[in-house]
Amino acid sequence: MHCPFCSAEETKVVDSRLVAEGDQVRRRRECLDCHERFTTFETAELLLPRVIKQNGQREPFNEEKLRAGIQRAVEKRPVSIERVETAVAQIKHALQATGERELPAMRIGELVMDQLRELDQVAYVRFASVYRRFEDLSEFSEEIERLTSRSREQGADK
Ligand SMILES: [Zn+2]
Repeated sequence: MHCPFCSAEETKVVDSRLVAEGDQVRRRRECLDCHERFTTFETAELLLPRVIKQNGQREPFNEEKLRAGIQRAVEKRPVSIERVETAVAQIKHALQATGERELPAMRIGELVMDQLRELDQVAYVRFASVYRRFEDLSEFSEEIERLTSRSREQGADK
């Protein structure tokens, strides 16, 4: 990084140590030009990305909203709270793993659908019907078609 005093490009690390119980690296650097010293802290960025809504507005990721959406989808279905929490945690992990600072809301919707598909088919269809409504209607009906024929094959009721 550039020297904050003279903006020279070359700086060297003179000391490096773990701080904050190993969650941070503190580095002492020296500018090769002006010889001023300064400190940098390095941490892994595990922030959740901001959400880009369909109208282009950005908003902070809202875990409560995510949880509420999943809970609404699994309402009156045989899905335990624990499994909902696991799904929330996995979605958050997947979002962090992207390393992106902003993600389209639709992308989060897709992650939720991936989780619900595993949890409960009815919940999945409920959720998908809301999230895909404005995207691709034919895709949605194909999905229902697929699910219906699959449960027919399995001899399961809806
Ligand atoms: Zn300098």
